[in-house]
Amino acid sequence: MNELYELAEILLPDIKITPEEYEIKYPPRSLPEGAIVSRYAPSPTGFIHLGALYASLIEGRMARQTDGVFYLRIEDTDKKREIEDGVSEIVNTLKTFGVEFDEGVVDLATEKGNYGPYKQSDRMDIYKTFVKQLIQKGMAYPCFCSESDIDSLRKRQEEGGQRTGYYGEWAVCRKLDLDAIKKKIDEGTPFIIRFRSPGNPERKLTHKDLIKGRIDMYENDQDIVLIKSDGLPTYHFAHVVDDHLMCTTHVIRGDEWLSSVPLHLELFKAMGWQAPSYAHIAPIIKEDGNSKRKLSKRKDPEAAISFYHTEGYPKSAIIEYLLNIANSGFEDWRKVNRREDNKKFNLDFKKMSISGALFDIVKLMDISKNVISLMTAEEVYDLSTGWADEFDPALKEILSKDPEFTKKIFSIDRYIDRPRKDISKWSDVKAFVSYFFDELFDADNDNKYDFPENISKEDIGQVIKLYKDKYMSLEDRKSWFDKVKELSETLGYASDMKAYKSNPDQYKGSVSDISTVLRVALTGRRNSPDLFEVQNVMGIEMVFKRLDGCMRDYLK
Ligand code: GLU
Repeated sequence: MNELYELAEILLPDIKITPEEYEIKYPPRSLPEGAIVSRYAPSPTGFIHLGALYASLIEGRMARQTDGVFYLRIEDTDKKREIEDGVSEIVNTLKTFGVEFDEGVVDLATEKGNYGPYKQSDRMDIYKTFVKQLIQKGMAYPCFCSESDIDSLRKRQEEGGQRTGYYGEWAVCRKLDLDAIKKKIDEGTPFIIRFRSPGNPERKLTHKDLIKGRIDMYENDQDIVLIKSDGLPTYHFAHVVDDHLMCTTHVIRGDEWLSSVPLHLELFKAMGWQAPSYAHIAPIIKEDGNSKRKLSKRKDPEAAISFYHTEGYPKSAIIEYLLNIANSGFEDWRKVNRREDNKKFNLDFKKMSISGALFDIVKLMDISKNVISLMTAEEVYDLSTGWADEFDPALKEILSKDPEFTKKIFSIDRYIDRPRKDISKWSDVKAFVSYFFDELFDADNDNKYDFPENISKEDIGQVIKLYKDKYMSLEDRKSWFDKVKELSETLGYASDMKAYKSNPDQYKGSVSDISTVLRVALTGRRNSPDLFEVQNVMGIEMVFKRLDGCMRDYLK
């Protein structure tokens, strides 16, 4: 037996299956021309970052819009970072955002698809089979250096002003012959398996990234670790093996991996496989003083998906916002397709930010207002009570006491061409509906009526009294407004805006002031949805109650 084969046998005696068998088991996928096979490949750490949702959204949409395949692979080879429920949490959270997978891990015990297992810790034999092949080809070798050997190597390199790492002349175990290796193994020295890099660090290669464009990079010459001492593969090796066998056409991932591209291309070549296309997504960044930085798990509460849940942003608004920062063309598309499902929008790698997508909570609120304004009253009811159930039980009780009444509130000014945009998140609902519920109105209003300054207290009293006794009419909008105009005239306020504008001195004010007085008395605020509608939803009893309350509290 040739020495390399003998070495492979010594290192991995239990591996009997051949690489060819795996190639047969995972044949090329038959998909339409141009179909993208992409994956989301998280390490389950239990913290779902906004950036992770952003990446999975892009990865998924790219596959869907090309009739491709999107799968979930769990990268659990870093035992230190893993947490128990990480997997279910990822799957469930993404699902609630509409990010769903065609294949891959479903939950801790279940998978779907023909290219599994999709959890790296279940793929140990696969990695070993392929590393065995690399050993046979002389492209991988065992390394017996301990952690302290590696530390002292680094120190020597730093002291000598050399590049750090395990490469070239510094890679001592590269040179061990079979006898030396056998001896170490007989002595029970633990080992890892390293790649024997053929790269030349002075030579450049050109990488054509689908997002970042053309980049010239130096070749890799580090003998990186393929299999760690615990038998688990490193990210680099698992990436190459998995993405080949799972027939990934596009590796779409965070740009922290961009600098590893030369290594990954080198590994694909060493394996004799065609490398996938790469698209490196720039991170979500935020302004911090005068500079910009990556959204940080440690510093920014809004980095965690749970933040949006607690605040009550609808998931669909978050997705809409992420599409907005993902592609520069989305906003224009949305302007022309106001009510279209955003799945109809095609993402384009070329329109993605190269350096970073800027996070802006004000913009998110704007988008969310728009998304909520286009929901049905029923949806607003369901989602807001769902939120309140978890975060504001007292509000939930109030809203769900009479669901039909609450839905009527949400219907005001909703089914029109330009619906109002009062609510940006479910935590805004309480303030928005407060004047429809006595307990909220009293607490909220606190007898502070914000009446227009140009109207005397006396006139305010008159407006309310006359309106209540004589001029209130809730039959139809026109007769209601005619009555308000009449009331205005009675008190010396112009009922016609044109007449008022051309001769303001002749009047105490206009019908608009009178409407504002009524609005403030009824709702406690100067800005509300259509007042006629508001009164209709309130019903006569509540309207009287608000007017009486105002007279009692404000005009006493
Ligand atoms: N597990 C890697 C990470 O969480 C995935 C990178 C990739 O998509 O290849 O960063």
